[in-house]
Amino acid sequence: MRDHHDVIVIGGAAAGLSAALILGRSRRSVLVVDSGEPRNAPAEGVHNYLGREGASPAALSRIGRSEVAAYGVEVADGRIVAASTTDGDGVDPVGFSVTLDSGAVVTARRLVVASGAVDVLPEVPGLAEQWGRGVVHCPFCHGWEIRDRRIGVLVTTPIGAHQMLMFRALSEDVTAFVTDPALVDDTALAGFAAQGVRVVSGPVTAVVSDGDRLTGVSTGSGEFVALDALAAASTVEARVGFLSGLGLTATDQLLGDFRFGSALAVDAAGQTTVRGVYAAGNVAAPMATVVASAAAGTQAGAAVHGDLVQADLAAALARAATATATGQSTR
Ligand SMILES: Cc1cc2nc3c(=O)[nH]c(=O)nc-3n(C[C@H](O)[C@H](O)[C@H](O)COP(=O)(O)OP(=O)(O)OC[C@H]3O[C@@H](n4cnc5c(N)ncnc54)[C@H](O)[C@@H]3O)c2cc1C
Repeated sequence: MRDHHDVIVIGGAAAGLSAALILGRSRRSVLVVDSGEPRNAPAEGVHNYLGREGASPAALSRIGRSEVAAYGVEVADGRIVAASTTDGDGVDPVGFSVTLDSGAVVTARRLVVASGAVDVLPEVPGLAEQWGRGVVHCPFCHGWEIRDRRIGVLVTTPIGAHQMLMFRALSEDVTAFVTDPALVDDTALAGFAAQGVRVVSGPVTAVVSDGDRLTGVSTGSGEFVALDALAAASTVEARVGFLSGLGLTATDQLLGDFRFGSALAVDAAGQTTVRGVYAAGNVAAPMATVVASAAAGTQAGAAVHGDLVQADLAAALARAATATATGQSTR
């Protein structure tokens, strides 16, 4: 691993590898550091990714790594544990240093943060073990696979009623588990009734599995409800702890009063509030799908290259001015 690069990309899944691809093709020296834990790792396949529909997250990552390697991008397995600014190179005032969990320190002119997010799950015994398999959150990611099956929807947030409708579009056998009556108003309940959705009020005390397969849920009243899948909402928290040395923190993401996660703020080019640090994918947009995260990575990578060509120009002009002053050639 070289110790200085034009760009270090933190995270090597859809967003990070897409940023690396466009930067590699622009002849930038790029290091991708990846700890190999994409958010969708528990899922069998990635859906709605045109051209690779249904490929496993691991396969997509393998393909992406070999594609970026063809353009000279270095990919290192590891975790960035800290980041800070450096003095830059004199003409370009922006520069960064990152520390890996191995203790290695690497510097770069720009950073792309593509570290994704983690799902904080409702605290129900047995739920986490089934996350991404028997317990799902996204009708677009998993809905087709559970169409016409017995689906439960765990309503633990104000958007639970909407989530219920999304899954109702996929199956006629849907049960809403309403943990708190304040989360579902009379209009929503009328909608459930009109669409033949059963409502079970009160807590869900356990997600029950037989070996690897979800079989149902137990409720507070002691009832067991047999299911093939349970939809549940997570809170999607940006993975940004290692950026504190740059003064970067994630901000709350709200739908009205409802907080559904956190993310880094970025501008239209993908640049964060720290000059020279860009971010793409779930770390900056918790609802972005894989293809949207890849697109954001491409966009951020292009913006970084545009930023660097301006810095290269400033450096060339500075060299030319010095040469003129000293009577030397710049060639
Ligand atoms: C169960 C589940 C199933 C899903 N299924 C689908 C689907 O079918 N289709 C779809 O479009 N979307 C799906 N999604 C959403 C999808 O996971 C995200 O859109 C996608 O993962 C975002 O890509 P990303 O590159 O931003 O982040 P991630 O895929 O999360 O990748 C971030 C990468 O950065 C690495 N990383 C994190 N911190 C560090 C660090 N400090 N140093 C180095 N590396 C680091 C991680 O290990 C990881 O490899 C699903 C989500 C879940 C939870």
